[in-house]
Amino acid sequence: MQKTLVTQPGEILQNLQPPEVPLGILSTFAAEQFGLSGDWTPLVGERDQNFRVTDADGIQWVFRLCNPHENTSIFECQIKALEHLKRTDPSLPVPRVLKTLNGQSMKMLRWEGVDHCVIVLSFLPGEVIGTTQLTNEQLYLVGQLVARLGKALRGFNHPAPSSRYLAWDHRRLPELLHHVDILPEVERAKARQILGDFCENILPNIDRLRSQIIHGDAHPDNTLIHDGALSGIIDFGDMVFGALVQDLSNTIADFIFPGADNTRIIYEIVKGYQSVTPLEEEEIDVLLPLIETRLLMTPLIVSLRSSGGAAQASYADVSKRAFPLLSELEASRELISNAARRAAAFTQKNSALPSSFSEMLERRRKVMGNNLYMFYDSPLHLVKGEGVWLTASDGKRYLDCYNNVPHVGHCHPCVTGSISRQSHILNTNTRYLSEQSLSYAERLTSTLDRSLSAVVYVNSGSEANDVAWRMAKAWTGRAGGLAMEYAYHGITDAIDPFSPSNDLASWKFPHMRLIPAPDDYRGIYKRGEPNLAQRYADLADQPIEELSLSQFGVAAFMVDSAFMTNGMIEAPLGYLSRVVDKVRKAGGLFIADEVQSGFGRMGSAFWGHQHHGVIPDFVTIGKPAGNGHPIGIVITRPEILDHFTKTATFFSTFGGNNVSCAAGLAVLDVIRDEALVENAKATGAYFKARLLELKRKYTLIGDVRGTGLAIGVELVRDHNTLEPANTETKRLANLVRDQGVLIGTEGVHGNILKLRPPLVFEPHHVDIVISALDKAFGDL
Ligand code: PMP
Repeated sequence: MQKTLVTQPGEILQNLQPPEVPLGILSTFAAEQFGLSGDWTPLVGERDQNFRVTDADGIQWVFRLCNPHENTSIFECQIKALEHLKRTDPSLPVPRVLKTLNGQSMKMLRWEGVDHCVIVLSFLPGEVIGTTQLTNEQLYLVGQLVARLGKALRGFNHPAPSSRYLAWDHRRLPELLHHVDILPEVERAKARQILGDFCENILPNIDRLRSQIIHGDAHPDNTLIHDGALSGIIDFGDMVFGALVQDLSNTIADFIFPGADNTRIIYEIVKGYQSVTPLEEEEIDVLLPLIETRLLMTPLIVSLRSSGGAAQASYADVSKRAFPLLSELEASRELISNAARRAAAFTQKNSALPSSFSEMLERRRKVMGNNLYMFYDSPLHLVKGEGVWLTASDGKRYLDCYNNVPHVGHCHPCVTGSISRQSHILNTNTRYLSEQSLSYAERLTSTLDRSLSAVVYVNSGSEANDVAWRMAKAWTGRAGGLAMEYAYHGITDAIDPFSPSNDLASWKFPHMRLIPAPDDYRGIYKRGEPNLAQRYADLADQPIEELSLSQFGVAAFMVDSAFMTNGMIEAPLGYLSRVVDKVRKAGGLFIADEVQSGFGRMGSAFWGHQHHGVIPDFVTIGKPAGNGHPIGIVITRPEILDHFTKTATFFSTFGGNNVSCAAGLAVLDVIRDEALVENAKATGAYFKARLLELKRKYTLIGDVRGTGLAIGVELVRDHNTLEPANTETKRLANLVRDQGVLIGTEGVHGNILKLRPPLVFEPHHVDIVISALDKAFGDL
């Protein structure tokens, strides 16, 4: 158990009555040392003897004779802090230091054998805020001023604030807790409960928060207002090393008052603070307890001072605020903490108890219907992602060997940072000029053939394909489409016909024809046979001809270069270019759907069509472009775009917005700087080699194939009949998941393991997958 130091009231408070040196002594000293003379007016001080001096030019100064019982280093610290602020935030309205005639920042005055430290500061214009009621805007400015002060003090260092004994320091609360009995009986229970809770639950974690030297006392009596504007913050006498958020909580505790709309006051001050220094969630979580304890300190310290005969009347008055305010805060706790969270840009905390799995499933069924497919026999509830790792709600970590959307790794800080920064600055649409949308378009087109220079921004892969299809129809004046058997290209009404994998059994569209996949494992021509590219390409002749002869004609052929839904088949090189030639001869255009194969997924090139050596008429982009942020793009030849927009007005509200483009640019930076295309090639080759080792061990593995980090493992019960091992495939994915590895299944028969991780996957991650697969195959 931690030992708590029990102190006597006197020890907590020390005797800090202001000194009383005769004015004559002081004015002579000021003239001799600082060259300062004029009219002297006494000012109130809690610990020090203060005067306002108006010199012959009408300039006003504060002459401060510091309390001799305080360590001189505290005053030295104040001076140094003010000099630091002058450098770090010159327009911050804080006092300036008047130096002595021989250039010192402070000077000692000896009176009745005791040395007193003297400092002279500029007197800031304005009135103390005191009990003046502030407008929302003024409260916001108070928050801003406190945050600016904290920010400007960030790099300031001095030993005094850490070592001094300050009764108002929250770290003294365990000692104050022992003096609760000094309060009137009716108030003890509440005080004990608040202080006890704080000491037990909050204080042990306070040192984890951002900490530095803080002003600590931006009280309405230390904050000045002049012509309605905040004109200054004074009194650096309570500087302490503490959690940064204590500057905010102390300010709030001192600016709220009984019967006021305190939720509004808190909201505005936090919002102002947040506009300069975004708060962390842990800081917002402790805000209310810090405010409550600060409120309690006043009556406690005042009572202790009274018992020691040292109380000051004004403080006794202030103490009367505390208990009514504490009751008000308690009554509107939820309202206030929601307001503070909102002001700090955090959404409301879900107060519901953590849902059980079955409850979540039931809620999902209610709001998302009965038939929405979910991975795994027992669904996964993921709560966090980082790189190639995902964490589930039960704390278990999973290696992600499946998801291609987090292309550069889950929550890559370069992407999340870009999104966050841009969303703080501006987010509009392409009806205005924007640097982000231009840069992103230029960066993308620089990776493509020069003919592909016109960029259209939309929001998803489906939309990109839909728009490319519309343009192809407009350009060719035809309406017939070609896709691969079992392809997937999206969800829209126009693209569903290009996606037989959506519903193969009932797929039938008069304007569409399907081309057999160049599958050299399961297809009619087998790996190793001669002229595979040509022979498979020739299988496209019939559908192309049929469509040409139909009323529709050939408008476009759409292909995913990684042939993902066909089971990551490795189309023989030369296949795609031959089919595209045939399509073009029939007057059709080629849409390269790069939603899966783009951004280096295939390792051999930045784009899938480049791997196949074809130049498309359209490139459509989705999924990985924004690493999870929704982005869809069509890139085409300028004449095709101009032709389309001449006849149809085209505008996508969200397409190409500043934030999406910032996300896309960050993804491109990471791919380049982390050499992810090269990594896809190297890690993909290693992955395949290790899978081929497994193939030698388990006869269930019929084929291992794929390019880069798009790898398929086809499972068959019989190597001659190729009977699909579909139930085994599903079971394997579940067994591997139990070992903390996520993989998928694919293909028309559902008998292909889909290994398609984020591009930051490394060989040691491959080893983890291989040993999980090895064990799962053994356990089947
Ligand atoms: N094309 C391909 C090749 C895809 O894999 C997908 C999505 N799986 C899409 C298009 C559709 O993209 P989205 O889901 O963003 O509409």
